[in-house]
Amino acid sequence: MYDYLVVGSGFFGSVFAQQARENGKSVMMIERRPHIGGNCYSYEYEDTGISIHKYGSHIFHCSDDETWNYVNRFTRFNRHQHRVLTTHKGKVFSMPINLGTINSFFGTNLRPDEVAAFLDTQRTFTGKPANLEEQAISLIGQPLYEAFIRGYTRKQWGCDPRDLPASIITRLPVRQSYHDAYFNDRYQGIPIDGYTPIFERMLQGVDIELNVDFFADREIWEKKARKVVYTGPIDRYFDYCHGHLNWRSVRFELEKIDSSDYQGVSVMNYADEDTPYTRIHEPKHFHLERSWNKNTTVIVKEFSFIDPDQPYYPVNFASDRAMYEKYAALQTERPDVIFGGRLARYKYYDMHQVIAGALAVARKELSGTQ
Ligand code: FAD
Ligand code: UDP
Repeated sequence: MYDYLVVGSGFFGSVFAQQARENGKSVMMIERRPHIGGNCYSYEYEDTGISIHKYGSHIFHCSDDETWNYVNRFTRFNRHQHRVLTTHKGKVFSMPINLGTINSFFGTNLRPDEVAAFLDTQRTFTGKPANLEEQAISLIGQPLYEAFIRGYTRKQWGCDPRDLPASIITRLPVRQSYHDAYFNDRYQGIPIDGYTPIFERMLQGVDIELNVDFFADREIWEKKARKVVYTGPIDRYFDYCHGHLNWRSVRFELEKIDSSDYQGVSVMNYADEDTPYTRIHEPKHFHLERSWNKNTTVIVKEFSFIDPDQPYYPVNFASDRAMYEKYAALQTERPDVIFGGRLARYKYYDMHQVIAGALAVARKELSGTQ
């Protein structure tokens, strides 16, 4: 019998498995997909030298030393500093919204200390924001919201921004300077040989079975270990007894193009609703340290849709929060199971948050069992 059965090979499951092995525990991992790495899985595209993040571009960023030092045990990072552009009505602007975006959009030449007063004249909502729309308008005013946020958000989440929590938009900084980096964190980069090798290194000594769905033989799997670490969707674990949580899925269309550079940037967002995709990724721009075939690039269009069988983003309607609280109460009744990660916690976590969470859980768990 193993000490732990880990369900799911994303960062939560893999970090926990690595820590358990390092503490002398035996670990079996099962994964529903044909590969390890969860949504961070990457692969090399043919002989192009281009690394593709199969489930969408992943930029590693964090500010805490423990997470950064930990992940650097398993990879080296390049110096990629993420910058995003967005296309609105055929014109390209800088994202997140900064002084460059504001001046190009309004045809102004504002200085940083003039931005706050200028945006004050644009705000049609000033109270305590209760949803994404109110939060965005109180941050940037109505015109910028309508141009850059409303359409993109409706495409991404498939609903009215007034139904979404304000927290989704506070992920994005708003800047009164020309500083256009997407993230504020101290540490940032892309693993030089892609994400998958990180998982391969973390999972040494772990017995792994791919293409295995825990729920196909739940009772058999549960008997294989003293404790289960579950990183799949929480509503599925409890047989949807409190109902189905809302999730958003993404779909990717990949195209190889005979050009050295398609869009000049790794990610171009499309703000308008009449463009069906939310963004186009051009992964070669993540690895300026690599040499590529000059006449080839790969682009990936990202479409957002609903597929309950492929959950990626927790939507977090108010009704979802209430439902999740009921599932969270059930989790506390299962001390034999560790629930962790984006799907089991129904939280819009980034990679560094999942890693930090798994390290904390592992520390508590493994100090208790030694
Ligand atoms: P996952 O990576 O989803 O892993 C869970 C695993 O469990 C999956 O492999 C799944 O197949 C498996 N599983 C589920 N159910 C079962 C079952 N029944 N049996 C067996 N296996 C099962 N974060 C960043 O920090 N930076 C970014 O730039 C970034 N970009 C993103 C872009 C997109 C489009 C998306 C969707 C996410 C992005 N993220 C980003 C977030 C990042 O992907 C997550 O934080 C991270 O992958 C979560 O890890 P996890 O282990 O919780 O979940
Ligand atoms: N967003 C937007 N316009 C943009 C980029 C983001 O309206 O050009 C909003 C949208 O609601 C999105 C949220 O901000 O879901 C968070 O954006 P982020 O880039 O962090 O999303 P992710 O990379 O996680 O999909």
